[in-house]
Amino acid sequence: MSVPGPETIHVDGAWRTAASGRTREVLDPADATVLTTVAEGGREDTDAAVDAAYRAFDGGAGAWPTTPVAERAALLRRVADLLQRDREDIALLESRDTGKTLEEGRVDVDDVTAAFRYFADAVVAETGRVVDAGSADVHSVVVHEPVGVCALITPWNYPLLQASWKIAPALAAGNTFVVKPSEVTPLSTVHLVKLLVEAGLPAGVANIVTGPGDPVGARLAEHPQVDLFSFTGGLVSGTKAAQAAVAGVKKIALELGGKNPNVVFADACATEEGFDTAVDQALNAAFIHSGQVCSAGARLIVEESVKDRFVAELASRAARIRLGRGTEKDVECGPLVSQAQLEKTEGYVASALAEGARLVCGGERPAPSEVRPATGYFYLPTILDDCHRGMRVIREETFGPILTVETFTGEDEAVALANDTEYGLAGAVWSADTARARRVAARLRHGTVWINDFHPYLPQAEWGGFGKSGIGRELGSAGLEEYRETKHVYENLRPQPVRWFAG
Ligand code: NAD
Repeated sequence: MSVPGPETIHVDGAWRTAASGRTREVLDPADATVLTTVAEGGREDTDAAVDAAYRAFDGGAGAWPTTPVAERAALLRRVADLLQRDREDIALLESRDTGKTLEEGRVDVDDVTAAFRYFADAVVAETGRVVDAGSADVHSVVVHEPVGVCALITPWNYPLLQASWKIAPALAAGNTFVVKPSEVTPLSTVHLVKLLVEAGLPAGVANIVTGPGDPVGARLAEHPQVDLFSFTGGLVSGTKAAQAAVAGVKKIALELGGKNPNVVFADACATEEGFDTAVDQALNAAFIHSGQVCSAGARLIVEESVKDRFVAELASRAARIRLGRGTEKDVECGPLVSQAQLEKTEGYVASALAEGARLVCGGERPAPSEVRPATGYFYLPTILDDCHRGMRVIREETFGPILTVETFTGEDEAVALANDTEYGLAGAVWSADTARARRVAARLRHGTVWINDFHPYLPQAEWGGFGKSGIGRELGSAGLEEYRETKHVYENLRPQPVRWFAG
């Protein structure tokens, strides 16, 4: 595995350290040791990166925005091939940086590869349209053009994936960009930019500044030469950054948090096979990547009549989840990403218990073991029963391995509970009654709804949230549209005076 650092800022085709000379240590969450040291960029680095992206966009004939679509698509396909070439290396890097398991890292690389290939195909397919202007003397076309300089801000939980969901459509559409990965997990994004360079992207098109939200992200949000601001992260920092971007009238895309319901009807559990599947998927929905997933199924909303059996089986399986360093064989779940995230999780459990929740399992750090160093940020999968809407743990995104349990007795109540959130990113409904499952799915106010499943997504289907889960969509044709301006070109083939004015 090649670990990047300390030259992790890439501006105008050159790798460098921060102008200030400052650095930041990147920690391995499994044991809190230093993995590497990266450049701690600041305002000066950010301005230089935006300037490079601006010049590359405005570079005249032969520049990236005017490169034929087929050539841009070919570059994206080369990046996809390079991702597959480096699959093991990147998966290892992502695992060491975020704490997720090696297998999860591999899945991320494959998903990201599929996204690059999807956008390569989509940009070739979606070329604009001829409009019937109602006259043979007029040729009217609607065409798509790149927006300009894109500022791309990403979080720490899926660093490679979130960066790729922005970078692939941005490049496909012909934009130039500056990406700022999370300061907590910057490594795979640095590697990705290296692959873009290797694939032949001209200097200045892809720039990266590693560094903190403020000043790097904040400067990108307000920078007058940034045309589009795309942010994935938490509600608080996203709102703050978006305000600065709105003040500059930039195009804005926000992918924020979620508080995602997993609704289970009793009929889904009527057979042993159905029960086993629903329990298994509820476990996966809540605890994969230690719950640090924007679409985590953190709210189990289960029909009263099956609740006791369902929760007992869930608890018995949760207690058997093998926690440890993500690179160890047989480990199923890694640590939390940081000390701050660990303490946040502990705070949510404490507040839920103080507000009347019942601890079913977990609720503490695990005992250290050979695969689980005492210095790592591990926390046991935790189930809290007897929860209700008044509790903080139900209202707020915990982003940790906490599954809360609420119950319902009828379809309307299930829908009301599932929609009772300021977020609206994703949710699921489990039922053996297809008509009921579809009826409920239609009433859920969430950007992605799964029926008898949880977590899968497709590069060709839009991803994003209702309510405070965000603005705009990633993936799918709307995910490409975010990175394009639409222009109407009206051509008069037989120009004549209009004679509106007498003279
Ligand atoms: P965060 O908001 O703390 O940070 C996200 C990014 O924003 C980081 O790069 C950070 O440095 C930067 N940032 C912080 N303050 C900023 C500012 N003032 N201006 C500009 N940039 C700033 O989020 P996080 O803790 O890294 O990630 C977890 C959050 O991300 C969760 O809320 C999760 O739901 C969300 N998320 C959403 C999706 C989605 O698709 N909707 C996907 C993944 C993660």
